[in-house]
Amino acid sequence: MDLKFVQTTCPYCGTGCTFNLAVKDGKVVGSTAYQRSPVNEGKTCPKGTYAYEFVNSPNRLTTPLIKKDGKFVEATWDEAYKLIAEKFKGYKPEETACLSSARTSNEDNYALMKFARGALKTKHIDHCARLCHSSTVAGLAAVFGSGAMTNSIPDIAESKCIFIIGSNTFEQHPLIGRRVMMAKKNGAKLIYADPRYTPTAKQADIYMQFKSGSDVAILNCFMHEIIKNGWEDKEFIANRTTGFEELKALVMKDEYSPENVEKISGIPAAQLREAAELYAKAESGALLYSMGITQHTVGVDNVKSTANLQMVTGNLGKPGAGVNALRGQNNVQGACDMGALPVVFTGYQKVIDPAAHKKFEDAWGFPDGIAPAENGYEVTTMVNVMSDNPGELKAMYIMGENPLLSDPNIDHAKHAFESLEFLVVQDIFLTETAQIADVVLPATCYAEKDGTQTSTERRVQKWRKAQDPPGEAKLDWKIIAEVAGAMGYADQFAWETSEDVFNEIAAVTPSYHGMNYERLEKPEALHWPCPEADHPGTPILHTQKFATPDGLGILTAIEWKPPAEVPDEEYPYIFTTGRTIWHWHTGTMTRNSPTLDNEVPTGWIEINTEDAKELGIAYGEKVRAITRRGEVEVTAKVTKDIMKGVMFMPFHFAECPVNRLTNDALDPISKIPEYKACAIKVEKIQEA
Ligand code: SF4
Repeated sequence: MDLKFVQTTCPYCGTGCTFNLAVKDGKVVGSTAYQRSPVNEGKTCPKGTYAYEFVNSPNRLTTPLIKKDGKFVEATWDEAYKLIAEKFKGYKPEETACLSSARTSNEDNYALMKFARGALKTKHIDHCARLCHSSTVAGLAAVFGSGAMTNSIPDIAESKCIFIIGSNTFEQHPLIGRRVMMAKKNGAKLIYADPRYTPTAKQADIYMQFKSGSDVAILNCFMHEIIKNGWEDKEFIANRTTGFEELKALVMKDEYSPENVEKISGIPAAQLREAAELYAKAESGALLYSMGITQHTVGVDNVKSTANLQMVTGNLGKPGAGVNALRGQNNVQGACDMGALPVVFTGYQKVIDPAAHKKFEDAWGFPDGIAPAENGYEVTTMVNVMSDNPGELKAMYIMGENPLLSDPNIDHAKHAFESLEFLVVQDIFLTETAQIADVVLPATCYAEKDGTQTSTERRVQKWRKAQDPPGEAKLDWKIIAEVAGAMGYADQFAWETSEDVFNEIAAVTPSYHGMNYERLEKPEALHWPCPEADHPGTPILHTQKFATPDGLGILTAIEWKPPAEVPDEEYPYIFTTGRTIWHWHTGTMTRNSPTLDNEVPTGWIEINTEDAKELGIAYGEKVRAITRRGEVEVTAKVTKDIMKGVMFMPFHFAECPVNRLTNDALDPISKIPEYKACAIKVEKIQEA
């Protein structure tokens, strides 16, 4: 058999595993292990193993589509470009907006960021990091000066005690879960906090089942116990931090004693004491978190609290430690690094900084300037503006995102997006969002392009082209460059290859400055910051000092606040959401992978056994889940694995859309929605 093997990086989670795509007769037909990756060492989870299946799905978009009389008709690229250019030129810059994508490459994100600020001249660009880890970027940047995972994935295996809160690591980042197991094999202990008894919980030495939304109280309680017993790292606190006295005064309040936090969180006081002692006395402690921490109206407070605990215990800037924010999508770190955010250019250079603004204006050379040096709207703000003030935003360009399934309170979001006069969606499938677009542009997936993505550990890795795209589909950055060309900006987007785009990124981005495609060829690739061509990259941040102006980490006194919506008589249960190991986000890719879709063909709601008994609901029955936003019919999964009083649904399934239920209340700083806690009631559906 004439097979070719092409090494590439997984397009699903932020772990950044490498595998080989098997290619026969010019088509991707399977995948095999690539043993030399230091991230996954030849192993993959089910999603990675079957990531080849959606590539040649018959549902792929193959030609541009233009909506005429409410129906899509096939169009040529020239027709599509002409229409898009004419339409966007007819709007004022501030009436337009772009949504970039954590699923596409760094090169694609950079191209859309440049297109937004340079061709459309709009300051409104954002992407779905807003919905998953904007609290991480805001929270960690505020206290460490850098909003990223501090340590590397292999480093987790070096830890002596791992505390996971707000992350079902073994299902959502399985190859990071493997590092946790390697640490355990070396004698490390695992402390795990989650409302559900997940596969991660099954491996824990201490499993703390808690009420969603009580994270700050739990973390403050840990510090209360640690400081009360004198277990804090006094030297680290004295030499490397500021703000300890204010933090101490707050966490030592009786409110954060184990007895009181038991009342808030549901975790027994004795267990809180035991976990705090185990963690404080460990030689090194790595804290891992994900969206269970970030997706709250107190998301930034939650993130800062994880940083507080790590600074108080001296667990930063050394192996086996760190604040390890596990980023969700394959390139959510990279999309943020590329400035697909409303407040920064690449490498977090602030748009309101006159020097940074001039640097990009000069580097790009648009004859009529770029967007003003002002912050734009976050995607969640865009939705509220479109809904509350129709006509303020009139046209939008979306690349590789599906907000009509992923946004909270989606009936509200759908109404908002439908208020646009003109919507362009560039994607690989006809998503729920693409269906309401005026123009749909067929793009390429990871297997059809060269490019880079940046994983959760800041490792910049290569995608390598394994096959041609289907039909007339094109590279995302190429499409954007050609739209810009139709608007009169061909000179500013005159790239020939993905490598040309990357070289421009490296030229304007200090943390990527020392990278090039040749250096990224080696299996270990490079972690940013990598400022010079001879710099080895930086797997562990903050080893000597933090990236704050005075080099000190900032301890922040943070009071616990309850979620925006808490259970009451009418909606008596806490509702939370998450993923399954078999699917990915809105299912665009995994539901087009027959093996994965066969494993878990639809969604469910988890109800505690005692709650189900009181409600008269049996396993497998259809129920109606209702919140103040809407209702969905879904199958009940009655289980002891979820805390009494809490209910859970996975968010991948359009036929039982979780986000019809979720709350769109926002964190005031990061503007992340509170997906992880709202109030719900469930009714048994009576037979007719
Ligand atoms: Fe892909 Fe993540 Fe699974 Fe690795 S752990 S194979 S990156 S989905």
